[in-house]
Amino acid sequence: MTAATVAILGIFVADTAYMASRLPKIGETLIGSGFVIGPGGKGSNQAVAAARAGAKVAFLSKIGKDTFGDLALATWGAEGIEPKVAVSQTDGTGAAFIFVNPQTGENAIIVYPGAAGTLGPADVEAEAATIRAAKVFVTQLEQPLPAAERGLEIAKAAGVTAILNPAPAFPLPDTIWPLCDYVCPNETEAAMLTGIDPDSDDAARAAGDALLARGAGCALITLGARGVLYHTAATSVVVPAMTGITAIDTTGAGDAFVGGFSAALAEGRDPVAAVRFGCATAGLSVTRKGAAAAMPSRAEIDALLD
Ligand code: ADP
Repeated sequence: MTAATVAILGIFVADTAYMASRLPKIGETLIGSGFVIGPGGKGSNQAVAAARAGAKVAFLSKIGKDTFGDLALATWGAEGIEPKVAVSQTDGTGAAFIFVNPQTGENAIIVYPGAAGTLGPADVEAEAATIRAAKVFVTQLEQPLPAAERGLEIAKAAGVTAILNPAPAFPLPDTIWPLCDYVCPNETEAAMLTGIDPDSDDAARAAGDALLARGAGCALITLGARGVLYHTAATSVVVPAMTGITAIDTTGAGDAFVGGFSAALAEGRDPVAAVRFGCATAGLSVTRKGAAAAMPSRAEIDALLD
């Protein structure tokens, strides 16, 4: 079997979405108007996006021995993603409760990482060969930080391009930034990490400078419908988001971008071309409902970029 070119460390959760006109009060039972279950978790969604975009993907994680674990394996199997996944004998697979008001689009979410919440440096070391054999390594912060740090260290030491999607964002140790060839936050995460709200291109560049000053190789700040700032010491460019599309659901847009960008980088595209490829991947994903389900195929991305 050929080695995966993109290795992604992260979590899978079963997204369970409940539709209702409002959240129930404490102690109340409410009859809902709909229910959907599907694959979720930022890392797993990014793996689906990268695989559909044409990369050979390995996914590093931990699940339980249960129905949601079966859903995870079926999802990765259908996408051709190689699971490098430990199975916990004691903890269940992660799950997310998602309340949606279909009238207003408002949501409220509880994520429980389950077995993936116990991922530690030793679990990542057990898959060090997979990381070293890849061209690109990606992680986020839904699993414990020490696991993400170990993955980045292994990638950096092996000369594998290391990407941190700092989501959800929280204050990070100084040691993590020099391990990141790319730090890829969205606007909220960039503001949390730098104290600068990237609400204009200049402000985004100032936030980018703050991330570079800490030691990151490149700040890649996703700016929603405005596009993505690619910011290094030598080059700074805002790549516009796709236009001429109708956005109906932006859930997972950031994951689509990270997956598409990683796949393009692993193919050897230059970084700004890879950002354009990521924007096309994300632009297509927002035209459909759902997260993993909305990730586009390589043919669709190529057609949009033509
Ligand atoms: P997140 O989903 O993490 O909040 P963003 O909202 O920044 O991330 O979206 C990620 C990327 O998705 C953007 O950089 C852009 O390329 C694309 N995108 C998001 N919203 C739109 C939109 N309304 N139209 C076109 N592209 C979009």
